[in-house]
Amino acid sequence: MHLISLGCARNEVDSEELAGRLAAGGFTLVDDPDEATAIVVNTCGFIDAAKKDSIDTLLDAADHKGNGRTRAVVAVGCLAERYGRELAESLPEADAVLGFDAYPDIAGRLEWILAGGHAEAHAPRDRRTLLPVAPVARPARAAEVTVPGHGWIPRYRLTTGASAPLKIASGCDRRCAFCAIPSFRGSYLSRPVDEVVAEARWLVARGVREVVLVSENSSAYGKDIGTNLERLLVGLDTVDGLDWIRVSYLQPAEIRPTLLDAMLHLHRVVPYFDLPFQHADPVVLRRMRRFGDPESFLDLLDRIRSVRPEAGIRSNVIVGFPGETEAQVDVLADFLAEARLDAVGVFGYSDEEGTEGATLGPKVPEEVIAERVDRIAGLVDDLSAEAAAERIGQRTQVLVESASADGHGVGRSVHQGPETDGQTTLVGADPEARAGDLVWGIVTGADGVDLVVRAETR
Ligand code: SF4
Repeated sequence: MHLISLGCARNEVDSEELAGRLAAGGFTLVDDPDEATAIVVNTCGFIDAAKKDSIDTLLDAADHKGNGRTRAVVAVGCLAERYGRELAESLPEADAVLGFDAYPDIAGRLEWILAGGHAEAHAPRDRRTLLPVAPVARPARAAEVTVPGHGWIPRYRLTTGASAPLKIASGCDRRCAFCAIPSFRGSYLSRPVDEVVAEARWLVARGVREVVLVSENSSAYGKDIGTNLERLLVGLDTVDGLDWIRVSYLQPAEIRPTLLDAMLHLHRVVPYFDLPFQHADPVVLRRMRRFGDPESFLDLLDRIRSVRPEAGIRSNVIVGFPGETEAQVDVLADFLAEARLDAVGVFGYSDEEGTEGATLGPKVPEEVIAERVDRIAGLVDDLSAEAAAERIGQRTQVLVESASADGHGVGRSVHQGPETDGQTTLVGADPEARAGDLVWGIVTGADGVDLVVRAETR
């Protein structure tokens, strides 16, 4: 069985849980798709480009069926959940399309598909799952994964790096007007603190030094189970061998003093804030069903920087939301100029089915949205490059992702999150430095959001 994971870090965790369940069900994971009897594609349905990438990947996977060994291509994940029926009907190359409720029995479903159950795959029973429960016995082969005793899903690591996403919750109870996630990911469901801490220990035992806490909204963690993110961070801070705890996706308006205190003072929690402001103009934010304004956002940044001036701060913004005016884009631009963030993802608004935004007007013309994206993206490129240059001379810690014997390496400094915030070139490191090491050094150069760090001599 070969598994392809697309999309975000949350999907990566789902993929590792699916792989764990498949391995526990007797399947062997292989790197080469031509060696696989089945190819499972964990799709992304977030934006149009991601949807297209998912469909292209499914079609590429189906090409392997001509090799005489691969017998099934199965779509799972967000695109499969959100557009299951349409996908099954329009993509006969896929032998099955499975929604989230198929995950607990994914091994049985795959056995059933490989046993010839594919014909029914295109006669969906309901919206969520396009296959009936597999009527086959589980193979009796031994599981290849350790199953910890805390009730969490066996996880089969698909990557070997020293950084791993750690899911703390699924779903979302917010109803941001541009976002379709709550419509297909369901209500917010936190994982118990001891379960998350146990999984962190399990990851550390396998060489992980950084965990990235992922969910749709980390600041809401625990509300549904009588706890909060502060308590989870205190629990994780006790995990020996864990060096960096990185929190992703905090709602700016939900950062209460106790949470800020935990994030700024707990030993293993890195000074890194992922704050998806989405906009700064208060009228646009209200129409987006979000909170805040430039003053409250800047006050939050001041509070962070007054304690940890070196903190990394990243964000996402959306331009072109229905009704947005040029003056409101100016408010966003002025805010970004004052906020001086390390990295900002800039997205052009597009209507998503089933969202409130899709019902709102007046729509901003596509070419105007493209102009606004160019304007704001150009601005944040300049501002991010300036923020990186201002780090020259700072002392920082780097997580090495690859290293060579000449002391050169590539990694991320403490204020760079995986994949989104640039990378760090390490020079002058110990020739014995290895991927997974943490190295202290001084920032000596910057290029865009990327940094150069000279390692401290021991
Ligand atoms: S954008 Fe809003 S609705 Fe969508 S996942 Fe984030 S918090 Fe939830």
